[in-house]
Amino acid sequence: MLKNNLEQVKANISAACKRSGRNIDDVTLIAVSKTKPLSDIEELISYGTTEFGENKVQELVEKYENVSTPVNWHLIGHLQTNKVKYIVDKAKLIHSVDSLHLAKEIEKEAAKRNVIANVLIQVNIAHEDTKFGIDESEIFDLIDEIKDFKHIKVKGLMTIAPFVENPEENRVHFRNLYQLLLDIKSKNIDNIDMSILSMGMTNDYEVAIEEGATMVRVGTGIFGERNYNIV
Ligand SMILES: *Cc1c(COP(=O)(O)O)cnc(C)c1O
Repeated sequence: MLKNNLEQVKANISAACKRSGRNIDDVTLIAVSKTKPLSDIEELISYGTTEFGENKVQELVEKYENVSTPVNWHLIGHLQTNKVKYIVDKAKLIHSVDSLHLAKEIEKEAAKRNVIANVLIQVNIAHEDTKFGIDESEIFDLIDEIKDFKHIKVKGLMTIAPFVENPEENRVHFRNLYQLLLDIKSKNIDNIDMSILSMGMTNDYEVAIEEGATMVRVGTGIFGERNYNIV
């Protein structure tokens, strides 16, 4: 099942790239393995998957330590400052930086370990009350602070779009985030590299790609439905 699902998702990514005149090499698929067993991850690794996303620090660390082949781990969920120390040297990319408070903690822990933390700034592009992420009106102030941090490299932006029936409803949000990325990029700020745009999940990754996503985070589409009762 995993193999077929993965092939289907890759075919959809490829088709979305063709429709929008984009190069398939510019879109990275992150397999979101939260709640799924290590055996599923091992199986996907055998098909060549190298990028995995988790939304909980403890689960990421456990899988990081137990997987048989080293792969790249993406922390895609909300990050509490008291947990930064556990993942700052394990996550290839932290997708969810949305405050100066959190950035300061990442800087501190990365400095201790003498590593550079690669991060994305999470933007609440649809202004949903229920979502984490910074408002776009505050992003330039945040960037202005983070740009001087020696152990953080800002690589781009991330968003979690609203849950909608029809993915077309999210097109406007993806388009707005892409525009914001271009605005920031055009300012050529030192240490602020806008090469990654992480947007699109199972329900809407094809639309996200058409609107400029360079990373899509797909869970259900690859692994099937999640069961939160079995942990
Ligand atoms: C769970 C999750 C995903 C994947 O969701 P699916 O709808 O299963 O593809 C993507 N991004 C984040 C931040 C998530 O928490």
